[in-house]
Amino acid sequence: MKSWTRREFGRSTGAIVLAGLGPRLAASESKARVVVVGGGIGGATAAKYLAASARTIEITLVEPNPNYTTCFFSNLYIAGLCSLESLTHGYETLAQRYGINVVHDSVAAVDPVAKTVGLKSGPKLPYDRVVVAPGIAFNYEALAGYDEAATQVIPHAWNAGSQTQLLRRQLESMEDGGVFVLVAPPNPFRCPPAPYERASLIAYYFKQHKPRSRILILDAKDSFNAQDLFLDAWERHYRGMIEWLPAQFTGGIKAIDVKERSVKTASETFKAAVANVIPPQMAGQFAQQNGLVDQSGWCPIDPITFESKLQPGIHVVGDASSAGDMPKSAFVANSQAKACAFAIIAALTGSERQPPHLFNTCYTFLSPDDAVSNAISFKPAAGTIKIVDNFVSQVHESAETRHQAAREAQSWYTAFTRDTFGYAAF
Ligand SMILES: Cc1cc2nc3c(=O)[nH]c(=O)nc-3n(C[C@H](O)[C@H](O)[C@H](O)COP(=O)(O)OP(=O)(O)OC[C@H]3O[C@@H](n4cnc5c(N)ncnc54)[C@H](O)[C@@H]3O)c2cc1C
Repeated sequence: MKSWTRREFGRSTGAIVLAGLGPRLAASESKARVVVVGGGIGGATAAKYLAASARTIEITLVEPNPNYTTCFFSNLYIAGLCSLESLTHGYETLAQRYGINVVHDSVAAVDPVAKTVGLKSGPKLPYDRVVVAPGIAFNYEALAGYDEAATQVIPHAWNAGSQTQLLRRQLESMEDGGVFVLVAPPNPFRCPPAPYERASLIAYYFKQHKPRSRILILDAKDSFNAQDLFLDAWERHYRGMIEWLPAQFTGGIKAIDVKERSVKTASETFKAAVANVIPPQMAGQFAQQNGLVDQSGWCPIDPITFESKLQPGIHVVGDASSAGDMPKSAFVANSQAKACAFAIIAALTGSERQPPHLFNTCYTFLSPDDAVSNAISFKPAAGTIKIVDNFVSQVHESAETRHQAAREAQSWYTAFTRDTFGYAAF
């Protein structure tokens, strides 16, 4: 595996834009129907790139919510550094500019024999191909004492919206000097650096507003993503405020006591003023219920087309997919969705199939002015997806470099959400 220089990283993010430019079909080539389940990052991107590249394919995007609030940047929101509105996006441009039929409903089931998608409200939509992007579900069975009802007292805040609002309110009303306990999940889970970014930004909030407060991270793991960068930043920005306890130290998380707001580990019980429990994860419920998931809890896919290995004609993108080395991130969901859209167009029209370009770019905030990044390119290999090149920020970079990364992150957010929800001209 090769490591990128910062200059090469810049070139690679340019390549991401080019990777989005797929085949554009002539009007007469197809009248096929594609139904996309889920209007999150994977689903919205797939719908947009199908519509933009093959205008005669009829595309229906089914999503229950009228708006989508991004998880990325939600840690900034929780720390009081941006508004929820600034992270919320509608589907109007996808409908109006790209002619996508946006239906606000839930998909109840796919019938692969009749080739229909059944909506919760009753109607059945015929399809030639389905793209499924339901995101994650929480495996409550794997964490004693914590369930759906408990999330109203101890939020997971791992989907953005009401959960992130609840966590922010709890932090705002917490007395100075309290302990914020964050339970970090086992691998694999949505966005590997995000629990530790959350701890960093909440420490920043405490420093400004509740300086006697502390953060305790109880981890289900013994190490975590970009650990050296976080430990260095916690020492520089928040000395003595954040304590990270790995599973080998506590003996692992055993149970949550919602009434006591405490976390029981094998060695000790930790009481919180505010707790944030991020449970173990698996593919979204829809994937579980429609035969798309294997014993791993995730959806096995063909690494070139993202077609399910269990259900022909149904493609799975985003966090729900089991995609080799690719982490569960929004950038990955977007990258997979583009590759999947072009593979579907090729299959439906008999046009030439292009090898997919797959990428991840991630910005992580250590403080509002100190951000790190990584960029990874992947390729399908040996029946799975492997890392080819990567760039990752290093400990001891200059303050200016980190400040620059924080500024880039803001531009990345704007460009990325435009790419996904269609505001930019294509
Ligand atoms: C705190 C945090 C910070 C993060 N930061 C970053 C970051 O900086 N960069 C990054 O790249 N990623 C980040 N991520 C990860 C990113 O948010 C996810 O990887 C991404 O949202 C996955 O996209 P998805 O389309 O698979 O799922 P989602 O975006 O969750 O979308 C799933 C959609 O499917 C819909 N749905 C579910 N079931 C049905 C059904 N039956 N019928 C119809 N619709 C349905 C849901 O309503 C939802 O809109 C972060 C995540 C968290 C939690």
